[in-house]
Amino acid sequence: GHDTLEDSVAFYSLDMNRGMHERMRIESGLRHALGNGELLLHYQPKFQIDGGRIIGAEALVRWRHPERGLIPPGDFIPLAETTGLIVQVGEWVLEAACAQAAVWQRAGMPPLRIAINVSAREFTAALPGRLAATLARYELAPVWLELEITESALMHDIERVIDIMDQINALGVTLSLDDFGTGYSSLSYLKRFPIHTLKIDRSFTTGLPSDASDCAIATTIISIGQQLRHKVIAEGVETVEQLEFLRQSGCDEVQGYLFSRPLPPFEFETALRENWLL
Ligand code: C2E
Ligand code: CA
Ligand code: CA
Ligand code: CA
Repeated sequence: GHDTLEDSVAFYSLDMNRGMHERMRIESGLRHALGNGELLLHYQPKFQIDGGRIIGAEALVRWRHPERGLIPPGDFIPLAETTGLIVQVGEWVLEAACAQAAVWQRAGMPPLRIAINVSAREFTAALPGRLAATLARYELAPVWLELEITESALMHDIERVIDIMDQINALGVTLSLDDFGTGYSSLSYLKRFPIHTLKIDRSFTTGLPSDASDCAIATTIISIGQQLRHKVIAEGVETVEQLEFLRQSGCDEVQGYLFSRPLPPFEFETALRENWLL
C-alpha cells in the first residue's frame, strides 16, 4: 500500500512510465506490422433479415503478431487513434479491402457491400480522393464499398463533414452510421447527413427482448431510420429471440455471432456459397 502521498506519487509515475513504455512498444510494433504484412482482415457477413441472404460484410482488422498471436483491434486501434498511426492503418485497410473485393468482383460474384471502419481522424477532405484513386486502381465498382463511421467523427464541423459525405456519395460509395445512439449526435444533424444505413450498436442489441430500455431504443432507432429512409442494421445479434424482436420491429439487416463470426477470406467465400444454395 501507499503510506504517504510521496509514495503514491512515486508509484503512480512508475506506473505511468510502464504504461508509456507499453504504448511505445505497441506503437513501434504496429509501425513494423504495417510494413511487414502482419495486419489482416476478417469479414463478418451481414444478412438481410427477410430471406437471410448475405448482402455484404464488415471488414475487421486483426494483427498477426509473431509472438503474441492474433491481436484483436480493441488492443491496438484506440492507441493507433491517439498516436495518429490510425491514418496509415486506415490506408492499409482500404487497400486490403478493395484488393479483396476486386478479386471477388473478378470471380463473378454478385456485388456485396464490403464495409470498412473509418476513424474520426481519417474522415478528412483527403478521403474522397483517396477512395476514388483506390477504386480506380483496382477497377472496383463503387457499389462494393461502404464506410462505417461513428458519430464522433461527424460532430466537429458539420458543413465540412456533409461536404465530404456528399463527395463520397458522388463516387457511389455508401455510408453507414456506426454505433448509432452511443454518441452525441443530435437528430437535427442526423436529418442532414447523406447516409444510407443506421447501425444499432451491440450494447442495445444485447438486452433484447427482455430489457425494456434496450427495446425502446432499438425500436426508436428503427423508426427514425424508416422516417429518414435509411436502412437499419443491428450488430451483435446472438440469439433467436433478439432476431425475432428485430424482425417484428422492422429492422432490415442483421449481423452477429448467431449467424457468423468474422471470417478469414476463404471461409467467408465458403459461407457465401452455402448461403447462395439456400
Ligand atoms: P465495431 O465497429 O462496433 O465492430 C463490431 C465488433 O463486434 C467486432 O469486434 C465484431 O467482431 C464484434 N461482434 C460482431 N458480432 C458480435 C456478436 O454477436 N457478439 C459479440 N460479442 N461481438 C460481436 P472486433 O473485430 O474486435 O472490433 C472491435 C472494434 O475495433 C470495432 O467495433 C471497430 O470500432 C474497431 N475496428 C475494427 N477494425 C477496424 C478498422 O479497420 N479500422 C478502425 N478504425 N477500427 C476498426
Ligand atoms: Ca463497425
Ligand atoms: Ca459497435
Ligand atoms: Ca464502431
